[in-house]
Amino acid sequence: MASYSVVSASHSGEILVPLVGLLTLDTLWTEKVNSLVLSAFLYTTSSCVLGHREIQALEVSCDYEKNGCKWIGTVGTLDKHKALCGYAKVPCPKECWCNDLLKKELDFHLRNECLNRDYSCEHCGMKDTYCVIHSHYSECEKKMVLCSNAPLCHVFIERGKVASHLRESCDYTEVYCKYASIGCEEKRLRMHMKQHEENSELHLTMALDKIVELNKFTLSPEKKQRSITFKLNGFSLKTGPHRFQPFFTSPSGYKINFFVYHNGEGTHLSLFFEVLHGPYDDALEWPLKANFTVELLNQLADCNHCVRNFKFDEDKDYCNPGGQGYGYDKFIPLSKLSCDEIENTHYLKDDVLYFRVTVDIIHQKPWLDHTHT
Ligand SMILES: [Zn+2]
Ligand SMILES: [Zn+2]
Ligand SMILES: [Zn+2]
Ligand SMILES: [Zn+2]
Ligand SMILES: [Zn+2]
Repeated sequence: MASYSVVSASHSGEILVPLVGLLTLDTLWTEKVNSLVLSAFLYTTSSCVLGHREIQALEVSCDYEKNGCKWIGTVGTLDKHKALCGYAKVPCPKECWCNDLLKKELDFHLRNECLNRDYSCEHCGMKDTYCVIHSHYSECEKKMVLCSNAPLCHVFIERGKVASHLRESCDYTEVYCKYASIGCEEKRLRMHMKQHEENSELHLTMALDKIVELNKFTLSPEKKQRSITFKLNGFSLKTGPHRFQPFFTSPSGYKINFFVYHNGEGTHLSLFFEVLHGPYDDALEWPLKANFTVELLNQLADCNHCVRNFKFDEDKDYCNPGGQGYGYDKFIPLSKLSCDEIENTHYLKDDVLYFRVTVDIIHQKPWLDHTHT
């Protein structure tokens, strides 16, 4: 066989090394030669003496050998192989940021790995990308979850039904006694509440107390009883605030606390109202809006009462249950409580004070009042 003057190519195909000796075609075939480098060399070197057919017959490895392709074939079949070669790198067609996929892995990737692959929630059937569905699981209403009273409660239930389970049937929810509206403040696990509620003697007593309290301490427009009068005995002996029994603004109204005391400097009488938590709070409008009138009654005649009006009409802390008191730090100077013959007033007589309180609720949604459920 004739000898040819050729140059061997580096294994990586990046650097051409000048001729180091005379190679036969046999030896060339046994070399691992990068096809592109070889072709470039063969077409551009004037000393090349190989014919077209012989070039086509040269044996080369695939460009994607570094990705794992073991294919070895002729220059003539290389292009066809590369078009099909599974070791070519391709970007994900779903644009999931995987740009380094081997073509042969693409199918598997799109079916099993791609974050943007089509996916549906196995609980509710919602369809979206895998990524979206995966975060949807944390809120899917149909997904089965444990009751939030777990581990005490073992109920396994659709997430969307947990709230009503807790509200209506979970044995481990803390509930109020069903007689809360007559003043029972008992709160315990639902599983233990029935036993408590069966105590009818306890609840009957509460009901009676409640009736007495309502008659005495409820302002009722229907009965034309718009005001309550409070009597305070032994005013000068009181060192701290004197709290009267809380009253209701109507039979199912706001629960209000009224208290009176000498102010800090001992110069004035102070009085305040507090909105308390009451049994009807859920059905009432908040914040409380109302006109309060408080009168310190003149004990000499039905005139010259010391009157002040004020409003609860802002969204302030004191207009909500549990808020601070609101009223007057300096309602009247203590010096004015004793008998004043010119003014014909005598407010503090025999160490007793009388107050009359009137509360007019400002209904914020009067068209919704008096509805039945
Ligand atoms: Zn290949
Ligand atoms: Zn992808
Ligand atoms: Zn779902
Ligand atoms: Zn439960
Ligand atoms: Zn009870």
